[in-house]
Amino acid sequence: MEARFAALRRREKPLAGLALVSVAVGAPFVLAALIPDLSARLAMYVAAALALVALTVLQRRREGLLREIGLVCPRCGATQAADLLYLGRCPSCQMQLLDRAELQAMPKAAITEGSPLRNAIGLVVLLGLMAWSLYHVVRVLGNR
Ligand SMILES: [Zn+2]
Repeated sequence: MEARFAALRRREKPLAGLALVSVAVGAPFVLAALIPDLSARLAMYVAAALALVALTVLQRRREGLLREIGLVCPRCGATQAADLLYLGRCPSCQMQLLDRAELQAMPKAAITEGSPLRNAIGLVVLLGLMAWSLYHVVRVLGNR
């Protein structure tokens, strides 16, 4: 089962998701720059529709990949996530899919087990980035 998840990680191409997020965030700005008469609201709607289509395509591709690799529940057909390695049960129908002897120990969460100073710095950086991006979104879209 662990080899199947390793195969999924190899074939999943996480950079495609990162590229999609980048395009979804940047699309309103690019559309507004390319088409000067386009209103900010319409640019947001177009970008949201494009992002929705792209997310749907990526989700279907991932589900097809999970079925191809065999990471589906034999009883209910639900696709499985990596927590199957720790829990051993299908999250949908609760069928035991892995023997208890095969289960791995649940990894510790870095947030709760890590350094409080590191977490505080991470929180400050995260809030700063959110404020910075909101400031620029309002500045760019507010000038239209
Ligand atoms: Zn199931």
